[in-house]
Amino acid sequence: MSPSTNSPSPHSRTGSDDTGTGNEDHCQRDAGKLYYKTSGGAGVESYDVLVVGAGPSGSAAAKYAAKAGCRTLLIEKRTEIGTPVRCGEGIAKGWLAEIGVPPSPKFIAHEVQGARVFAPDGTCLTIDASLAGNEVGYTLERDMFDRYLAAEAARAGAEIRIRTSATSLLKEDGKVVGAQCEHMGRTYDVRAKLVIGADGFESQVGRWAGLATHLRAADIDACLEYTMVGVQGDARFDDFYLGSCAPGGYLWVFWKGEDIANVGLGVNLSRLRDKAEVKAYLDRFLREHPDLGRGSVLSEIAGGVSVSPPLERTVTDGCVLVGDAARMIDPLTGGGILNGCVAGRYAGEVAGEALAADDFSAAFLGRYERRWRDRFEEGLYRNYMLKEKLRKMDDATINRLVRAVADLPLREISGPAILEALRERHPEILQDLELF
Ligand SMILES: Cc1cc2nc3c(=O)[nH]c(=O)nc-3n(C[C@H](O)[C@H](O)[C@H](O)COP(=O)(O)OP(=O)(O)OC[C@H]3O[C@@H](n4cnc5c(N)ncnc54)[C@H](O)[C@@H]3O)c2cc1C
Repeated sequence: MSPSTNSPSPHSRTGSDDTGTGNEDHCQRDAGKLYYKTSGGAGVESYDVLVVGAGPSGSAAAKYAAKAGCRTLLIEKRTEIGTPVRCGEGIAKGWLAEIGVPPSPKFIAHEVQGARVFAPDGTCLTIDASLAGNEVGYTLERDMFDRYLAAEAARAGAEIRIRTSATSLLKEDGKVVGAQCEHMGRTYDVRAKLVIGADGFESQVGRWAGLATHLRAADIDACLEYTMVGVQGDARFDDFYLGSCAPGGYLWVFWKGEDIANVGLGVNLSRLRDKAEVKAYLDRFLREHPDLGRGSVLSEIAGGVSVSPPLERTVTDGCVLVGDAARMIDPLTGGGILNGCVAGRYAGEVAGEALAADDFSAAFLGRYERRWRDRFEEGLYRNYMLKEKLRKMDDATINRLVRAVADLPLREISGPAILEALRERHPEILQDLELF
């Protein structure tokens, strides 16, 4: 571990507060930490890596940065990591190993055998483990999962501070050199060789760093979800309902136990006149599905999900973005937990490599960008194109598509396998739908 030895120099802030002077004049050690005294009296702490946001992406990044020998600080603005939960809590099994997380009842509520996709006319496409392999999944206790990941980061050596927000970035010569932080009314600067922006869908770090993070309405789904108890259904399968029940998106039923499930939906913003319509869609679905509608609502959550392609650039001098902040959510499924964790791992590992090379330039950090793009960018783009088709499809077209796919003799379920089989058996569908 190598403590940061950069000499501080006057810097600018980019963010909600641009008023600091940043006039540091000497440094000293206290309790193993290196910090700078400013002429104004406020301390300026120094780390190799500052991770903003302790969601799954940030905790994964902090864990792997600390493991790689970086002095790492992970800050989280909430009072409790993991709550409130804003998530359907569904994940595919396959990716957990990639982030070094063994499945555990500590954070897994339920395991399913597969998924069912329902067309508006009730046609059902069943995808079990024989077709989807490790893509079938678990339902998490997301609060416990987030806390588990944060604890792993701490065990790897990262320091965690809750109730601590980044309020702006510190910059010198256009390079990011840290962030201004706020904790219970106290504002102080944290210098870092690398800032990892893991601050989620509403990320400010990316914008402050000058990265283009803007989303068009058609690339956002407005989501609403109830966790319901006393529901009935087949808890062996996660269910996805397509069509006018959730225009431009889909409705999900993710089971957490035999009589408890997350029932939620995402409606594409381009298909909404008023956000209140989202609740009306969910409530109408529950009225039409009394086995679910009979349940009691334990909690209600709302939130936005990006269904866009990933950002053009996720790296700048001294700063990288991971997870939702980098628009890494799968645009077709809305799933972002595991992509974020894998990217977090890469960001943490590259932080270690940058420390060894003493090079936190955008050029060096570009290896982070190449790593995550090699791993999952192609799938994100393919699913973005499919989502764009689905966003505009009417119910009759969705019925035809699901019927055609359900009719295919598939040995595996994947985008390319489905397209290949459709090309052989139903070329007319591909033509009609203008699908490739
Ligand atoms: C309704 C809904 C259902 C979903 N269902 C699923 C699902 O079933 N499966 C799936 O894989 N994905 C799902 N997602 C997406 C998933 O929740 C995200 O992809 C995932 O949370 C991304 O993790 P993250 O760490 O990148 O961001 P987040 O989990 O959003 O974490 C960001 C963290 O940063 C903190 N933060 C923000 N700004 C600051 C700041 N300035 N200073 C300090 N801290 C800050 C926040 O408090 C937060 O804790 C769903 C999303 C929604 C809204």
